[in-house]
Amino acid sequence: MIILVTGPSGAGKSTFIGELMARDPRLAFSVSSTTRPMRKGEADGVDYDFVGDAEFDRLLADDAFVEWAPVHGHRYGTTWRRLRELTEAGKIPVLDIDVQGGVQVLEKFGDQMVSVFLFPPSWEELERRLRSRATDSDEAIAGRLKTARHEVTFAPRYRYWIVNDDLDRAVGKMQAIIAAEECRASAMGDPPLAADG
Ligand code: 5GP
Repeated sequence: MIILVTGPSGAGKSTFIGELMARDPRLAFSVSSTTRPMRKGEADGVDYDFVGDAEFDRLLADDAFVEWAPVHGHRYGTTWRRLRELTEAGKIPVLDIDVQGGVQVLEKFGDQMVSVFLFPPSWEELERRLRSRATDSDEAIAGRLKTARHEVTFAPRYRYWIVNDDLDRAVGKMQAIIAAEECRASAMGDPPLAADG
């Protein structure tokens, strides 16, 4: 199982994923590589692997990416190395990636993906959240809102939809989804009891 969480920036994905991982130690965040400059409060190798353009080009040439996409003027990608690290450690990877990357991993991993589109409660609330960050310019915020309207058109490709109106409730729903996915017959391989056992 690989968990994919997509939603417009400002939908509260980072907080949602942070809380989800705090409640379930089997989950681990898949750290993406990005050419975006580091924001205050972020740490290299934790929030992202912050790389320069040349390094990103090198990774591309090496076929290092499971998926990658340009987002808001910077490049972001999931490396096979990071994903493998998690699966080899027996963790359930959690990917926080945009719709372009989402499409790529859904094609690559198909049924193995537990895909969730996270919605903000309203467009007004999304704008309020983006403004309260105060890290981006008015122009950047307007761009993010425009991108958000485009991104929600991809929601039908995701298996689950969660509205992040209340963090505790939204994370509770995600835990229920994971529990249900683990009970899917196709996820179990062999039945827990064999008929001839
Ligand atoms: P931010 O710059 O606000 O951290 O992230 C901007 C957007 O990039 C978010 O929607 C996030 O989901 C997306 N993103 C982060 N990492 C990746 C990645 O590895 N691949 C893709 N395709 N998108 C990513």
